[in-house]
Amino acid sequence: CGIVGYVGTEDAKEILLRGLEKLEYRGYDSAGIAIANDDGIHVYKEKGRIATLRESVDESEAGMIGIGHTRWATHGAPSQLNAHPHQSTTARYTIVHNGVIENYEYIRREHLPHVEMVSETDTEIIVQLVEKFASEGSETEEAFRKALSVLKGSYATALLDLEDPDTIYVGKNKSPLLIGLSDGVNVVASDAMAMLQVTNEFVEIMDEEIVTVTREKAVIKTLDGEEVTRDPYVAEIDS
Ligand code: GLU
Repeated sequence: CGIVGYVGTEDAKEILLRGLEKLEYRGYDSAGIAIANDDGIHVYKEKGRIATLRESVDESEAGMIGIGHTRWATHGAPSQLNAHPHQSTTARYTIVHNGVIENYEYIRREHLPHVEMVSETDTEIIVQLVEKFASEGSETEEAFRKALSVLKGSYATALLDLEDPDTIYVGKNKSPLLIGLSDGVNVVASDAMAMLQVTNEFVEIMDEEIVTVTREKAVIKTLDGEEVTRDPYVAEIDS
């Protein structure tokens, strides 16, 4: 399983699908992508092969920012409904996630008692939590940090906000995650392999860090909101 993200100047869907194909070796039972453009955030997801997902994606789907996922089901059967991306109730937020949220039942009971869940996944509580904190007045970055602070378990996760569709918010704890940097293009991946098609310059993300990724930059912070600086490295691998 794996995640990918792209924000740049090219057709995001093609780069994301190619990235997911590079992650197929990790194993998966379903896959999906979300593309943001002027008329909203469009989610495509399918049980089964990336080839099946590729067929389902509208060829004219244009957008230069998006996120993608291959799922290895841990909570909820492999199905189209449980495939990622998942959206919050108002559809403001869209998320992909690898890992396991150990306290998701507690979170659902304590923080989200009135939220009707669409899927059977542990992942959906993350996106619903972000929406809850945002509806209580937090900016998205803060809402995302607050949500991740409540989680126990592992995650490599990427989030899109309909109200700020030029940014990918990513978070990491105990699941692999890299940011790839290029000129006017930045990417997200579980494994550099997925994004060597775009760049060979990567920055490692540590546990309990978030990154705000736009076309121009990637800003790393701790869950407390402290900014972190870390030098990129060049990946010496053949794609
Ligand atoms: N726990 C999540 C799910 O079952 C993510 C699984 C994964 O890492 O792909 O949907």
